[in-house]
Amino acid sequence: MRNFLTQEIERLQMLFRDAPGFICVLQGKQHVYELANDAYYQLIGHRPIIGGALAEVLPEVIWQGFLDKLDHVYLTGEPFVGRAIPIQLQRVAGGDLEQRYIDLTYQPLRDHDGKVIGIFAQGHDVTEAHELARKLAYQAAHDPLTGLYNRREFTNRLEALDAPGPHAILYLDIDHFKLINDRCGHAAGDVVLVQIAEALRAEVASDHLLARIGGDEFALILPACDTETAFEVAHRLRMAVQGLHPVFRGRRYSLSLSVGIAVCGQKDGLSFEAALGLADTACYLAKEKGRNRTQASSSTDEEIRLRRRDMDGATLLTEALREDRVVLHAQRIFPLQPGAQQGPIFHEVLARIQGHDGRLILPSDFIPAAERFGLVEQLDHHVIGKVFAHLQNVRQEDGDTACYFVNVSGLTLGSPEFAPFVERQLGSNPDLSASQICFEVTETAAISNIRWVCETMHKLIGAGFRFALDDFGSGMSSFAYLQDLPVHFVKIDGEFIKGTLTRPAGAAIVEAVVKVARVMNMQTIAESVEVADLLPLLRGIGIDYGQGFALQYPEPLCGFVASS
Ligand code: GH3
Ligand code: MG
Repeated sequence: MRNFLTQEIERLQMLFRDAPGFICVLQGKQHVYELANDAYYQLIGHRPIIGGALAEVLPEVIWQGFLDKLDHVYLTGEPFVGRAIPIQLQRVAGGDLEQRYIDLTYQPLRDHDGKVIGIFAQGHDVTEAHELARKLAYQAAHDPLTGLYNRREFTNRLEALDAPGPHAILYLDIDHFKLINDRCGHAAGDVVLVQIAEALRAEVASDHLLARIGGDEFALILPACDTETAFEVAHRLRMAVQGLHPVFRGRRYSLSLSVGIAVCGQKDGLSFEAALGLADTACYLAKEKGRNRTQASSSTDEEIRLRRRDMDGATLLTEALREDRVVLHAQRIFPLQPGAQQGPIFHEVLARIQGHDGRLILPSDFIPAAERFGLVEQLDHHVIGKVFAHLQNVRQEDGDTACYFVNVSGLTLGSPEFAPFVERQLGSNPDLSASQICFEVTETAAISNIRWVCETMHKLIGAGFRFALDDFGSGMSSFAYLQDLPVHFVKIDGEFIKGTLTRPAGAAIVEAVVKVARVMNMQTIAESVEVADLLPLLRGIGIDYGQGFALQYPEPLCGFVASS
């Protein structure tokens, strides 16, 4: 029996000693160490403690409040439980205090009468887990390159901001940052981003929230700040960035910043998210006005409103292209001169977006956006692909008696991709003849490389396609284009056509255009013929074709989907 008891005691002592968590027993109100296991010694740094009072052998814990906690447990008999409590311990004799984190429980030990006579302390050193969690939380909230808050954390903190408004939000975008990347490489670009982040941080007060929210975009919240002060801060930030002159491969680069400001947290109830969007929009306007400047915004600004409309249009178009909701209408172009009836029937193809509710959205709601946000080429290619496929499908019924006028932006036409794209489309629709397509060149102002555009046009004309110059007369440079571009048709802008009836010199102007076109062997088409009264006049002037509501409303051609 005695032997058995001894064995049991030894086994318990071993369990106690080798337990993974730390354990110690403190006796009396002085908290004198009676027992401690290996994990406890490991935590406190292998100091001799048995028989000593805690205040003497572990003095550094007194100012950290641990002695008070023990006294409280001893006096009240209430246990103490704490999670990931920070504690600083001198784990090496004469060394510095070391930060650890512990899960800790103090349990009172009682005698037979229930009186507290000591404390049983146990717990775990959770420093590694705690630091890992902290590191993960840091990574989730910060941009790894610059160490600034990331977009997610920025939005979270913005939403949690409860100081009384107004608050200013600054949206900062580096001007022409791609140049640094292109000329010096991405690694150099990264170095510059870090330098910019440091320069911005140095200008920003500790209660200001600075974040990198995109590639070269930063955002800053100035709590309790009006627009005027925000302008001053923006100026300081711009000067700080201008003061940086990074040098790569012996070349010194200059930097500048465009800043958009929006103010929120006032009576207008503007949400932070909406304010951030406005600041972004204002920054875009700062870019448009020449960069290296600050632009403030308010939700009522006309230019902001237009820009937001364009942004909405861009989203609308991107989604429509993705979901195949761009549908095509066609409007007949009628011969106006007697005896000109033979030959193919002309139609202009008009793109619309079919909304989710089945309603049609007109080009005026998405074309400006397509141009500004670089979507116009994608749209043009999409429409061409659809028209070609449609013509291939209806070929048997129609013969080649129809010719479709398809709008192509100057930007699309100026791309080296255009001619190969059209040739590929022609190749994959073998029943289609190039003579069935006439490209209407629109946005003549956007033609920046006229020589290249002419080359593309000649190549496609060689393949059998035709070209029309759209909206003739609406741009100052139209006559110059007429000389340069190899077009078969000139479409006279609707404003001039309407003017033939209402303006004194209206008919004379159109007549002049018709004469010039004839000399150049081009045919003329009147756009926007909206009233039948115009027809005799246009015939008299010698215009070859007419198009407009007075002749026919556009009709569905293809691409319609069942609305859900
Ligand atoms: P803008 O004046 O209109 O702002 O022109 P920008 O050249 O600065 O162009 P934009 O702001 O539209 O694009 C930012 C560029 O930043 C795009 C990308 O090449 C670059 N970029 C984005 N993230 C990083 C990054 O982490 N490191 C580096 N080196 N470049 C980045
Ligand atoms: Mg930029």
